[in-house]
Amino acid sequence: MTPTCKNFIAGEARDSQSAEWLDVTNPATGEVLARLPLATSAEVDDAVASARQAFAVWAETPVVDRARVLFRFKQQLEDKRQELAELIVRDNGKTLTEAHGDVQRGIEAVEFATGIPSHSMGMVIEDAAHGVDSELFRQPLGVVAGFTPFNFPVMVPLWMIPVAVACGNTFVLKPSERAPLAAVRLAELFAACGAPQGVLNVVHGTRGVAERIMAHPHVLAVSVVGSSPVAKHVYTTAAANGKRVQALGGAKNALIVLPDADLKSTVESIVSSAFGCAGQRCLAGSNVVAVGSVAEPLVRDLTAAASSLKLGSGLDPATRMGPVISPQAKDRVLSYIHEGVRAGAKLARDGRQDRVRELPNGYFVGPTVFDEARPDMAIARDEIFGPVLTVLRVRDLDEALDMVNASPFGNSASLYTTSGGAARTFRRRIEAGMLGINVGVPAPMAFFPFSGWKGSFFGDLHAQGKEVIEFYTRRKVVTSRWA
Ligand code: NAD
Repeated sequence: MTPTCKNFIAGEARDSQSAEWLDVTNPATGEVLARLPLATSAEVDDAVASARQAFAVWAETPVVDRARVLFRFKQQLEDKRQELAELIVRDNGKTLTEAHGDVQRGIEAVEFATGIPSHSMGMVIEDAAHGVDSELFRQPLGVVAGFTPFNFPVMVPLWMIPVAVACGNTFVLKPSERAPLAAVRLAELFAACGAPQGVLNVVHGTRGVAERIMAHPHVLAVSVVGSSPVAKHVYTTAAANGKRVQALGGAKNALIVLPDADLKSTVESIVSSAFGCAGQRCLAGSNVVAVGSVAEPLVRDLTAAASSLKLGSGLDPATRMGPVISPQAKDRVLSYIHEGVRAGAKLARDGRQDRVRELPNGYFVGPTVFDEARPDMAIARDEIFGPVLTVLRVRDLDEALDMVNASPFGNSASLYTTSGGAARTFRRRIEAGMLGINVGVPAPMAFFPFSGWKGSFFGDLHAQGKEVIEFYTRRKVVTSRWA
């Protein structure tokens, strides 16, 4: 019988009573892995109530004891690395190496959270006025919630949960309905680390479950990571309901290549940025902006390198690129490729017919490269979220920067060059929050903010680093005068 995904409420995995269920499939084979409930309103309310009950105890738990729970959680994640990575490969489809990267990034977020006694310290000033002292304390908010995307089933929940609970909050997670398998496992591992029952709860579902959480009066903050329309919707809805919101959205990241760049390492870096995780990363480079004479050799070598990537199951060590997440995602990617051809871009490599012989039902699309695209074409403008790389040719760095800055997105951008001056100009003028210089996936480490700009982020305080400590705490300033 097909297994079912369980909600995780008050410290235990619980069967859902829902009448509505979805299939969770393995994108490499099309096989149904599990049935996922759309949690009922009562189940959502139970999860919030369980988190609220736990908050009363957890917020009173000394910060060093909360940190110790996180040290134990880190150890659990280290011990279960392989198991978690295999769960990710099963429902997400990425390669095992990529899945290990997903887990590793999550562990680093937990490591950051173990520093909570230092991160959450307040401030004091003596004699702010004669005989008057001022002190600032940070306190948790209460019950907070998060909605996470399919593309990083371990890392993104761990951008939220460890710091939120380290600060003394309790959490309700609604993981992606397409890649939910690791989420309940995370909750089970966390539950074994000594926190009170109900500090971390998981409810499954889609938009309706998220809406119920956003409307719940006892949920005080909401984090979402997803596509820009969803991020914007969550931002406006949850903020209108009086909640603090952090909403990380989609992207269309440019990789600018100058003629002085080292061609070989640039090509390797771009191919890994564009086709890693089958292009399903918010930091995937999807537009190459080729400056001047570099365009010809660059397109030639990118095309050759893309052609050499072996498609297949993420569990096969020879695989360099897995499938996209769903048949709908595959259709969407194919329709963008058709549209690019229709609009007149030159198809330098066509991945539409690529197949994996032994996996005829997998959702595979081969690496695809367009050349001579224009910025107004859909392939250059929209987030495709698949293995499609679009090359735009420009005369100089100025034109490249103007072109990239015209995008409504501002997640990341990279420059390939050997010129420090060009790198400095790029760093100062580009309108994006995460920059790579000769780096194609400029993912900030856990102690820096994940700092998207423009249509890639809605809110004030980003994920990761000190900003997320501010997001999950509120400040109390005490002014005292003693005779
Ligand atoms: P998605 O927007 O479809 O879903 C994200 C989450 O929001 C899921 O849990 C989903 O169930 C939930 N959701 C869907 N509709 C909702 C609604 N109306 N109200 C509330 N919640 C809703 O995203 P996805 O396809 O799972 O993930 C891919 C997207 O996420 C891409 O656009 C990618 O760029 C983005 N992403 C961004 C970052 C970042 O750091 N900016 C990181 C990872 C992924």
